[in-house]
Amino acid sequence: MALIVKKFGGSSVATPEKIYNVVDRVLRDKKEDDRVVVVVSAMGDTTDDLVALAKAVTSRPFGREMDRLLSTGEQVSIALMAMAFMEKGQPAVSMTGAQAGILSSDTHGKGRILTIDPSRVFAALEAGNVVVVAGFQGITDCGDITTLGRGGSDTTAVALAGAMQADVCEIFTDVEGVYSTDPRIAPNAVKLDEITYGEMLEMARLGAGVMQPRAVEMGSRYGVPIHVRSTFCDKEGTIIREDYTMEANKHVIQGVADDTNVAKVSLIGVKNKPGIAHLIFQSLADKNVDVDMIVQSVRTVEDTITDIVFTITLDDVVMAREVLASLKTAGDIEDFVINEQMAKVSIVGAGMLGQPGVAAQMFGILSEENINIEIISTSEISITCLIAEERVKDAIRAIHDNLVIDKRG
Ligand code: ADP
Ligand code: ASP
Ligand code: MG
Repeated sequence: MALIVKKFGGSSVATPEKIYNVVDRVLRDKKEDDRVVVVVSAMGDTTDDLVALAKAVTSRPFGREMDRLLSTGEQVSIALMAMAFMEKGQPAVSMTGAQAGILSSDTHGKGRILTIDPSRVFAALEAGNVVVVAGFQGITDCGDITTLGRGGSDTTAVALAGAMQADVCEIFTDVEGVYSTDPRIAPNAVKLDEITYGEMLEMARLGAGVMQPRAVEMGSRYGVPIHVRSTFCDKEGTIIREDYTMEANKHVIQGVADDTNVAKVSLIGVKNKPGIAHLIFQSLADKNVDVDMIVQSVRTVEDTITDIVFTITLDDVVMAREVLASLKTAGDIEDFVINEQMAKVSIVGAGMLGQPGVAAQMFGILSEENINIEIISTSEISITCLIAEERVKDAIRAIHDNLVIDKRG
């Protein structure tokens, strides 16, 4: 008897036919005494459509109301899927995040799962149901809904699997697994049989949209093996786990990721004195603006002003603009410029450690493509360059084909 959490993304449940396809697949794979929890996303592009609807009403970030709106997408799909199971003779019950016991933080649009009390889910399973849970949402201790960030249904699934000590969490999607880069950008991307939590976390953090980073973090924390695979075929996908089962799967570079959900913020005329960086970044943090890739230009001690450049996500641009405008009014910065047409390209691989030439090779490839690098940042297992958004596909293909494929041999 196994306990399995299966998550189906938006494209897998985009139409009534696709919902039935999922139901048939789950029932075909389910052994008599398996207990199955199905986590679903909103149908197709529903979440994007809801975002657009809100934008037609206001450009201001009304977090609480936005979360109520966005959380409805998943509620449609859980109800329809539970009905489809019952049509096929399988008892099923749908649950919102709150009903599934998912307690989340009150940071609207970026909720974090704090705790999960899965007792109601267990009870429904014991009664012989397939339990269909709404992804991407939780409830705060005050009873407000928060959503978990785009792609957050992955996190619902892995966190539930962790809290319920499930045997495996399967992430069903519209590609056959995790590839060395987005197969829609680079046609010769290769499917990875395995990848470690650490490398997958870095890939996801740097933009590989196939998994939400927090889901990978949860998997690692609770030791849940994650199997990313296709909804539309039976092939084995990619297993995300602690370590490789075979040396052969280790590569210097596992993959290349891109992220176009990024804006570059340049602060001009920042006072060169202790405490100013703290003031700026604390003001942004107070409004939940995530900051990344910070560079402060080098000045001599005598200089009274300096410049600071950093990146944020596009979702935070409106809020960042508000914060920076008030710092400008207060005279803490002279001015600021936000460029929304930027992208990050990154290479990821634990094998890069102790391979000093890799960074030079990456920069060389970008230079051959005549792509300007605006900011560079590195972690132990990744190198990221900020470039113009219009060149991101060229950058991905060139880096992938010359560096990843080459090193794989
Ligand atoms: P779902 O709706 O199932 O959650 P997503 O669109 O969130 O699906 O994630 C799947 C998509 O992720 C793929 O269609 C693919 O274009 C994209 N993707 C980006 N990077 C990768 C990668 N390295 N491997 C596989 N898919 C990737
Ligand atoms: N529906 C949400 C989104 O589009 C959550 C998800 O699909 O994981 O981001
Ligand atoms: Mg997704």
